[in-house]
Parts: sequence; C-alpha cells; structure tokens
Amino acid sequence: MPGGRVGWYRLDMELRQIARDVYACLQPDRGLGTSNSGLVNRGGGLVVDTFWDLPHTRRLIETYARIWPGPARRVVNTHRNGDHCWGNQLFPEAEIIGHRLCAAQFATERPEFMQSLRNAGGSADPGIAALARALADWDFAGIELRPPTALFDDRLTLDLGGLEARLIHVGPAHTAGDVIVHLPAERVVFTGDILFRLCTPIGWEGTFARWTAALDTIVALDPDVIVPGHGPLCGVEGPQEMKAYLEYVRAEAGRFFAAGLPALEAARRIDLGPYAGWTEPERIVFQVERAYREFRGEPFDAPIDVTALFGAMLALRRERLSG
Ligand SMILES: [Zn+2]
Repeated sequence: MPGGRVGWYRLDMELRQIARDVYACLQPDRGLGTSNSGLVNRGGGLVVDTFWDLPHTRRLIETYARIWPGPARRVVNTHRNGDHCWGNQLFPEAEIIGHRLCAAQFATERPEFMQSLRNAGGSADPGIAALARALADWDFAGIELRPPTALFDDRLTLDLGGLEARLIHVGPAHTAGDVIVHLPAERVVFTGDILFRLCTPIGWEGTFARWTAALDTIVALDPDVIVPGHGPLCGVEGPQEMKAYLEYVRAEAGRFFAAGLPALEAARRIDLGPYAGWTEPERIVFQVERAYREFRGEPFDAPIDVTALFGAMLALRRERLSG
C-alpha cells in the first residue's frame, strides 16, 4: 500500500540548491518512474517537470513549499512521459509550457491503463505480475491529463526576474518533443530524459543520431551542474558516458543484426562491460529494438509494441537474476 510508505517518500525526496535561486528535487533511483524535478525560484517561479502520480507530486510541492513564496506560476514539461508531467493538474494556476510535439503526443500513455497494470499483481502472466510489482509504489488514480498550452517549436527564452532560462528543443531523441532547460548565467542544465545518470536509458520515438547530438549539445553548453531526468546530479561526464553507451549499443546491435539474430537475442548477448553497473541493465532491449528499427529503415516514430518490449525486458531481468 502506498499510504503505508508516505513518511519514507518524504525522507527520500531530496531538495538540493544548485545555484542562486535554483534547486533540484531528486528522487533516488528505485526503478521505473523515479524522475527528478527542478525549480527556478524567481520571477514567479518555474518548475521543471512534475512527478508521475498525485501523491508524489503533492510531496514535490511540499518540498518546494519550504523555499518558495507561493506556487510556481510556470511549469515546463521536458517531454510527454507521465513521470514528468502527470502531476501538472496540481499546478492549476500555472502556465504549462512545452514543445508542440509534447502536447500533441501527451495522451500516448494513459493513467487508467497504468493503474490497471499496477493493480494486476495477481495476473497469471509473469511479465504483467512483475510489472505490477515494479509499479506498486505509484498510484495513478485521479490523474487528469493537462498537456502544455504554451507551446513552442525550436527555442523559447524566459526572463524570470532577471534570470534567463532557455528552453531548447533537442528531439526526436528520447521522444519527439524533448526539451532541455539551460540557465546560462547559473551554468545549469535540466536535461529531462535526454540524460539518465547511472541508470540505463529507455527510449521511445526518436533516433540515435538526434539523441547523441542532444547529449553533445548539453556538453557544449559547458554546465557546472546537470540535473538528469533520472539519477544523481552530475557534470559533463554524465552526457559523455551516456553518448558512449548509446554508440556502443548501436554498434553491437549492428553486428547481431547483420548476423540475422532477433533483437531480444542481441540484447541478451551484448556484453555490457562498464555499463553493467547501471541500474536496470535489461532496458537495453529498448535501445536494441530502436537500433533494429533504424537498420530496417523504419521511421523514427514507427509504432512500438510497448507491452511486448516490457515483457522482453522483464524476461531478460529474470534470466540475469537466475543466471
Ligand atoms: Zn522519465
């Protein structure tokens, strides 16, 4: 029961000041959905990403309420995944900002569907039962999708009481509407899920080329502090290492594709080397499948069989744990 763990959540959500008037709220990596958020505490306040469900977003707000003068007037969603925007409704007075494609694809994932998976712990299908266990800390009840209504295409610059925030579209990388938030004077970048730090990236509609270019863009901004979408704060070593991972996985997948092996078999055989210590290594299934789609010449937004990929991912996890 999530209610039994309320105190634990509160202790577990960490508020970090990373520059003057700039904060991050970090959720330690407990697997699926433990995303990070940011706050620029000036000019009415800008929140970078809400959390996956209402209980976690309420705690995010309680955490920010320790420092802000009142609820933030603006929220930016870095992309459309629920763990970055399903708490939007708890900012009813705020302007919700995002990329045009983030808004257009906002309903790709549905809270009702996630709640049905979360409640399917008794399923006879081991993949579904495992997914239900992975979702047990979340509660998707009561979520109403509130997509961004202040939309932009390439860039949007905000003046937050003299603090400049640059919103930059870098997709289609992790998703089509990926946005990073750069605070040039503070030398801070909020990356959304362009960067997973010390945890294995998962990806949806996008390309390897755009994703690695997005990571290069972050490095070129020369930030002192990077707030990844998932995982701990880092410097430019974070995007550099993740770029190397993506390039390595794509190259290895290419070898197995040329040899005629199915994607799941390739994911099973790729030696993770230095990346084996990242959490949830079995998410490699998503990258190998993406590489195979590229090798087959399919478009970056070709439909993805998400349920099948999660099933393959969980099968790989079981194999790793038992092997
Ligand atoms: Zn995420």
